[in-house]
Amino acid sequence: MILRGIPASPGVAMGRAFLFDTRRFIVTPRKIRDDAIPKEIARFEEALIKTRSEIIGIQKKITKEMGSHHAEIFNAHLLVLEDRMLIEEVIEKLKKEHKCVEHVFAKVLDKYINVFSRMNDEYLKERISDIDDVGKRILKNLMGQEEKSLSGLKQKVIVVAYDLSPSDTATMHKKNVIGFITDIGGRTSHTAIMAKSLEIPAVVGLQKATAKIRVGDFLIVDGNEGIVIQNPDNKTLKKYQIKQKQFVKFEKALVNLKNEPAQTLDGKRVEISANIELPEEVYSVISHGAEGIGLYRTEFLYMNRRGLPSEEEQFDAYKSVASRLSGCPVIIRTLDLGGDKFLSQLEVPHEMNPFLGWRAIRFCLAQPEIFKVQLRAILRASKFGNVKVMFPMISGVEELRQAKDVLNEARKELRRRNIKFDENIEVGAMIEIPSAALTCDILAKEADFFSIGTNDLIQYSLAIDRVNEKIAYLYKPTHPAVLRLIKSIIDAGHREKIWVGMCGEMAGEPGIILILLGLGLDEFSMSPAAVPEMKYIIRNVNFKDAKEVADKALNLPTSEEVEDFANKRLLELIPNLEKIRRQ
Ligand code: PEP
Ligand code: MG
Repeated sequence: MILRGIPASPGVAMGRAFLFDTRRFIVTPRKIRDDAIPKEIARFEEALIKTRSEIIGIQKKITKEMGSHHAEIFNAHLLVLEDRMLIEEVIEKLKKEHKCVEHVFAKVLDKYINVFSRMNDEYLKERISDIDDVGKRILKNLMGQEEKSLSGLKQKVIVVAYDLSPSDTATMHKKNVIGFITDIGGRTSHTAIMAKSLEIPAVVGLQKATAKIRVGDFLIVDGNEGIVIQNPDNKTLKKYQIKQKQFVKFEKALVNLKNEPAQTLDGKRVEISANIELPEEVYSVISHGAEGIGLYRTEFLYMNRRGLPSEEEQFDAYKSVASRLSGCPVIIRTLDLGGDKFLSQLEVPHEMNPFLGWRAIRFCLAQPEIFKVQLRAILRASKFGNVKVMFPMISGVEELRQAKDVLNEARKELRRRNIKFDENIEVGAMIEIPSAALTCDILAKEADFFSIGTNDLIQYSLAIDRVNEKIAYLYKPTHPAVLRLIKSIIDAGHREKIWVGMCGEMAGEPGIILILLGLGLDEFSMSPAAVPEMKYIIRNVNFKDAKEVADKALNLPTSEEVEDFANKRLLELIPNLEKIRRQ
């Protein structure tokens, strides 16, 4: 049986299923007498104290192994533990109902989760998993149960769960958890982000994995394709054993390109950079041989927390990334909230069309005080490396000017505080809205560089909601309309002598690289793991051949024809690519 989900972390894993049931405890109500009430309250308080020290322990472990940002998620858990309303409600009910505290607590917990799940606020909805996670810990401590943790596994397994909380994921040990799959979750959930950091193959959003898979079933997890195969036949098993070996060998074979430049055989030099969401990912950027960071999605610093990050906190994060990249470019994109990324503390109202709504630069220009905090932090970090700043969702030159005005105010404020920064910091515009793409000639006169955000550019130019799986088949990076837009953006940038990069997912697709290279794209930014193969391709083709591929592709009528043609030419130009992939 094949289950399809969302690829969360690349690689192939094969092994026995371990069902990790993270759902409710069964709590049988037990009557208690009046004089036993103080003892029940004391038990409750002890459970809260024990839970607190467990969470602090996990926080320390994560800070050590994965960095402090991941550990911050648990601040929300600690706040749940201190919630007076919840605690008092349990005590009151206990006195009224004369039932054991675990039963009363489980009922109050259910009530909270129900109330939160009915709310329209995405941020509050996300808090359900915090309440649930802490609640289960408290219940476990009240009921004196052994901790069910993924760290104590004795053999290699594939974890199958409805959902995995950050604390579950953090206790996983790469040695025994060789892969994991979940019923719910998206590509940018904390669980998915952590899986990538731990380099454990994972598929999320499978919907019915826990209902269909039994303990001990043999599973294949293909984290590249987002596929899970349950009890495969011998032929499939062999196919994936080969695929798994190829994945490992392929990565190893290309790793020696780490320090080589991304230059074609006939001398055309481009830049291969990586996209990151968190400062901790810098390690992966460097180890995969990226030549810089082409997109630092800073909004993740603002998510899963109470309150906004201060200038100091942001400065520390940006400075640490900039200095670890030792002089290589780091493009920091300003806050891109809205669309599918929300924070309750910023009170973004619920909208009918969030992707067309109060998003990214629109939000920042309406909240200049919030915006300036970030801009000051970025400017300050520019003293510690090769930092560039980039604005998302620019729709035309007015918005670029307004954003630059706020940047100038931030500059003035720093000068008043006698703080030094790079006075010549490059300021770029993301080109991800068709109106910006069509007015690139105007924008290019006022920007230092462009970075094409194809994830959004495709959704806006083809009218395809990028998060709707029902129309995903229409989301075509090689659609002639998309290719024409990309060409005109690159040409307009070059006419004004500015460089043009791309940081949408399309930049890391081997089947498309020849076209982008041939169109003259200067910088390709992608997930760190995609870097080695793209470098290999660039180093093994001639720019003149890529130009021919691009010219021909632009004249083909359908995306399928473009894809077939580009893939065919890639294998003709680098015949051993297939061999390296399959060695
Ligand atoms: C894009 O839209 O292509 C992009 C890189 O930005 P994001 O995916 O963060 O919207
Ligand atoms: Mg975008």
